[in-house]
Amino acid sequence: ALTIGIVGLPNVGKSTLFNALTRAQVLAANYPFATIEPNVGVVPLPDPRLNKLAEIFGSEKILPATVSFVDIAGIVRGASEGEGLGNKFLANIREADAICQVTRAFADPDVVHVDGKVSPKDDIETINTELILADLETVGKALVRLEKEVKIKKGDPVLFEAAKVAQKILEEGQTLFAGAGAAKLDLSEISSLQLLTAKPFIYVFNTDDAGLADESFQNEIREIVAPADAIFLDAKFESELVELEPEEAAEMLAENGQDEAGLDQLARVGFDTLGLQTYLTAGPKESRAWTIRKGWTAPQAAGVIHTDFERGFIKAEVISFADLVETGSVANARAAGKARMEGKDYVMQDGDVVEFRFNV
Ligand code: GDP
Repeated sequence: ALTIGIVGLPNVGKSTLFNALTRAQVLAANYPFATIEPNVGVVPLPDPRLNKLAEIFGSEKILPATVSFVDIAGIVRGASEGEGLGNKFLANIREADAICQVTRAFADPDVVHVDGKVSPKDDIETINTELILADLETVGKALVRLEKEVKIKKGDPVLFEAAKVAQKILEEGQTLFAGAGAAKLDLSEISSLQLLTAKPFIYVFNTDDAGLADESFQNEIREIVAPADAIFLDAKFESELVELEPEEAAEMLAENGQDEAGLDQLARVGFDTLGLQTYLTAGPKESRAWTIRKGWTAPQAAGVIHTDFERGFIKAEVISFADLVETGSVANARAAGKARMEGKDYVMQDGDVVEFRFNV
């Protein structure tokens, strides 16, 4: 499964956030996963459509899609040179499919900041500098090798050229994720180099009531981290929220002037950042969301349920969620001509409610 690695300086609230994530996982009903690893939080992706489907189909269970977060401990200044957990830290980041950077934006004078002052912008720079330095080393070594190989017509010239562009972006102090667009670098061309800053980034700002209410502060931060998404939450509040029953939690949120829990927002943005989407199946037993990559075809989507479904795929009966809700049942949707028979080239759309037909 794809995972998002959580990184951040010490004392910014990573553990608090991660504990909330793992608590949310434990509390999630109908949890379909057997093993719970200490440094992985598998949290449900909130999807109100599943409740509606369960109503329509009288489903006994609801099984949401999930998003996996890995706690990657130990970034400090100098990590790229082996300070702190150093190399292990870099190896753990390399394994993650996206990077979620937690940054402190709360003022509490009782909590010490490692660099002596609370400045989200400086924290981001400290962390990104370590990742950029690690990437510069990787690219530098690769370029020496590629140059030799290209000379004797053995190397990949596309990779060589792309690696040179990547090096330039990194030398300017930018992450590849942030700089690729302007430099017209196609990140897929350098995927074999496994560079850390080429992964998608999400930034979480652990803030307080003042920060949550301050739109100009949030907009300023959003500009700094673009094209990455920024999420503003209060990790302490989130960790209290996950302990409550859903109704109570909703009340607390409303009192706080929020319409969505920070963790839910993080799961949603994380899922999207990983390039994932869901399709839905429903019946009396369960209403369920299945995870696929954006752009997948119907047979590929069927393969997520069972490999036999992909191999024996004949067709898919697809009703959009909106049409199903509007007509009220599969039978009504069929009668209204809203149920489509799609073949093997059909590209799945978010919110498709599907029944696959297949040969076993
Ligand atoms: P980590 O080192 O990044 O894992 O940080 P921790 O989660 O251990 O938090 C460091 C300290 O900050 C702890 O004393 C937390 O209770 C406190 N803390 C974490 N999040 C918040 C927050 O949102 N607001 C306030 N005021 N304190 C927080």
